[in-house]
Amino acid sequence: MAERVSLAKRRPRLEGVFGPLTEEVDASLRVIFERVDATLRALATHHGTSGASLERTGLELTLFPSGQLEISSDVGASDGLGNIVAFMVELRPTWFYGVGSDKAGWDVEASIDADCRHTNDHGGMDPVFRGEVIRATDPEAAARALLGAAEELRRLGTTKPLSFWLDRARDAPDDHQRPTDAESKT
Ligand SMILES: [Zn+2]
Repeated sequence: MAERVSLAKRRPRLEGVFGPLTEEVDASLRVIFERVDATLRALATHHGTSGASLERTGLELTLFPSGQLEISSDVGASDGLGNIVAFMVELRPTWFYGVGSDKAGWDVEASIDADCRHTNDHGGMDPVFRGEVIRATDPEAAARALLGAAEELRRLGTTKPLSFWLDRARDAPDDHQRPTDAESKT
């Protein structure tokens, strides 16, 4: 079971994700992460929810029993009819998926999932948006990319209604071949 720790509330060490950090860089990362939290909070507020992630504070450091680490957050928005859209940001060391390297690097991604309402039920949430994965080669660039990803989520989540995303996880009228079938089960 993964352990999740709020960055804002418990201020965990960041070196597990980023490697050795000077105090200056550590402070600079935390300032950027506070801006990410504020951005996600604005998105949550827009959808009438109290905050982002389990602790409602925004970004969390997650440690998996495998030793994998990530910094991530999600905002869950409900359409009031029991349908949920999840807006997610993630920052992971490039070794996260098992690709070893002697160079430090981080991948940052914004994504959106929506409750599946297909006739042929996929049993959960379907991916309805995948942002471009940004590869950063220093910690501050990775943090800035995470802020950019959060800002993109806020833009997508506030300029389009939830129904736009929910409609991407249901059958289109007169179309029983799901257009996103090929990419949904990766
Ligand atoms: Zn589905």
